[in-house]
Amino acid sequence: MSQNAHEDLPLLRVRNLRKFFPIKRGLFSHTVGHVRAVDGVSFDLKKGETLGLVGESGCGKTTAGRTLLKLLPPTDGEVLFKGESVFALGHEGLRLLRQKMQIIFQDPYSSLNPRMTIARIVGEALLVHKLVRTKEEAKARVCSLLERVGLSAKYVNRYPHEFSGGQRQRIGIARALAMEPEFIVCDEAVSALDVSVQAQIINLLMDLQEEMGLSYLFIAHDLSVVRHISDRIAVMYLGRIVETAVSEDLFAQAAHPYTKALLSAIPVPDPDKKPERTLLEGDVPTPIHPPSGCHFHPRCPEVMEQCRIDSPPDFDLGKGHCVRCWLFEGKAPLAKDQGRKMEEV
Ligand code: SF4
Repeated sequence: MSQNAHEDLPLLRVRNLRKFFPIKRGLFSHTVGHVRAVDGVSFDLKKGETLGLVGESGCGKTTAGRTLLKLLPPTDGEVLFKGESVFALGHEGLRLLRQKMQIIFQDPYSSLNPRMTIARIVGEALLVHKLVRTKEEAKARVCSLLERVGLSAKYVNRYPHEFSGGQRQRIGIARALAMEPEFIVCDEAVSALDVSVQAQIINLLMDLQEEMGLSYLFIAHDLSVVRHISDRIAVMYLGRIVETAVSEDLFAQAAHPYTKALLSAIPVPDPDKKPERTLLEGDVPTPIHPPSGCHFHPRCPEVMEQCRIDSPPDFDLGKGHCVRCWLFEGKAPLAKDQGRKMEEV
């Protein structure tokens, strides 16, 4: 591949990613069905870009993030990182690639080993991956990483229980940064924190992105949380992305009825403004037996007959805005090489 061709590639390309979990029953553990957690997810991510991935609990966003890192074995699909297939890599190739692709978890307490000091939690991977030669060198790197994420280097010999939730998340970020990654999955990284601490962590992530040219997949269930940090936002419903747009466009001109309902649920900080709420009826259907046609049709306030029968493709609304909804049938379907038109299984 020529140098130029390589530069044109997105940092991350995800195509038709699927992750189904088998449901086993009986004495011989026969597979009697599947939980279709991720059902044909596709997107690109550029270097230095943040894509927010949002949706209600159980929509498959966390599973998508973990599967594309191959922390969970994929059922189908392709993930290319700088043009290289993540799923085709063997153990050693994956080990090297994982340095460049890191994850920050939701619960900063359970993701840090309570029996290890911060020096070990952050420094161990440096030694395993031979990024430093001695324990002293590792400790010095950990001290500088702690300062980089806004913590004092004097905390290096302390244990996780000695820190607040926000501080523990900073340690989680320092651990991810230790590998000098290019891409980080932030998996509900601020969801467990107080609102004021959330803002501090988001600002820290944005500063680090500017400094290091990082790319983020920022997973959250709250649209207002992803707004500040995301260049683009993808909305997921029952294993599929239903709308993708540049952040401002999504907030100004949401197209999909589900996105509109999510936006209407965001509290307005103005007592004179009466919020127009779109209340969604019913619960999220089970991903074991998703509804026919458009998965959203049993809850959609704008449902049409066609929606119950046929699954809509992605329609291109221009400027990178695409929506998976029959209301936009007059628009051009997204080109197949953009990988957003999914066939049924
Ligand atoms: Fe609603 Fe139909 Fe659009 Fe689905 S395709 S979101 S059911 S209008």
